Amino acid sequence: MSVLVYTEHTEGKFKKSAYEVVSYAKAIADLMSTTVTAVSIGNVDSAELAALGNYGASRVLHVSSEQLTQFVNQAYASVIAAAAEHTQADVVVISNTFSGKGLAPRVAAKLDAALADGAVELPEVDGNTLKVKKTAFSGKAFAVTELTAPKKVVALNPNAFEVRETGGSAEVDAFTPDIPTDDLQVVIQDIVRATDKVTLPDAEIVVSAGRGLKGPENWGMIEELADALGAATACSKPVSDAGWRPHSEHVGQTGIAVSPNLYIAIGISGAIQHLAGVSASKTIVVINKDPDAPFFKVADYGIVGDAFEVVPKLTAAIKAYKGN
Ligand code: FAD
Repeated sequence: MSVLVYTEHTEGKFKKSAYEVVSYAKAIADLMSTTVTAVSIGNVDSAELAALGNYGASRVLHVSSEQLTQFVNQAYASVIAAAAEHTQADVVVISNTFSGKGLAPRVAAKLDAALADGAVELPEVDGNTLKVKKTAFSGKAFAVTELTAPKKVVALNPNAFEVRETGGSAEVDAFTPDIPTDDLQVVIQDIVRATDKVTLPDAEIVVSAGRGLKGPENWGMIEELADALGAATACSKPVSDAGWRPHSEHVGQTGIAVSPNLYIAIGISGAIQHLAGVSASKTIVVINKDPDAPFFKVADYGIVGDAFEVVPKLTAAIKAYKGN
């Protein structure tokens, strides 16, 4: 009986979501009185791998292969499933990131495991059953799912569980599973970044704007605020539909679901389809000139005012604060 956790990295550095899942896996392992093994795929140096011990992994399996330098969904899923079999893991934990959303169901199918994706809390362990609270209906509700199959896959939403440092260290072992050739029919040759800025799904802070901005020519102040905060920019659906902003920035039920620490919504009404993709944010700040805008109902902080007056003042105040 053990817990396996897949740790995702970008160019050899683990993401915060990787430390979250290791901490989460350790908390589950403690409830089951067992240990955590992490599996990492691709080029990561041994110090970075061993440091996963500080978050609760007692062992790290490192899969380093030319064929797996870039993320390949099918092949990575096969490797994680092979690692689960190798370690006789009963529970596999994956972060519910963009890649994790593709991996978790594939890993569950390969292991004939029960799956709970979008987990938001530590599960209850009751004998062989895990009770997992997870988001449902595109984030509009929560469901408690009971996983009763002998093997279980849990995909944890980013930002839903805190990083816990344990002070431990992990032993790192090379792991070389067979990779089915069928898994490598689509291979990424190269990745060309469209921007050096922080990407939306990984952002800790998101500055998002809607139709209240009137037109694409007014996005300069949104970008300036985002730059001052080190944030990613996002938008509502009608904004990207109108071509004011790229579709990659569209958040909501039919766009990207985000769960940053801080989501600032400017000139967005707060329609249920928009909220579906942003309501998991830790803190929501709303700037809207209409005091009855539905977004205020879910806001932690609200500013009733004209975005064209409020945003430049906010940016100036943040720059002044950072300057000091
Ligand atoms: P509006 O509803 O026009 O709101 C503009 C807001 O700006 C208003 O609240 C107004 O008071 C405020 N405002 C105006 N001027 C100013 C000013 N100067 N300063 C401050 N505030 C100002 N939407 C999404 O965003 N994401 C989705 O994924 C999504 N999926 C959908 C799926 C379906 C099936 C459907 C039917 C709809 C979907 N929608 C989605 C659309 C959604 O229902 C709303 O129409 C949309 O979110 C509204 O966008 P908005 O808030 O930018 O615009």
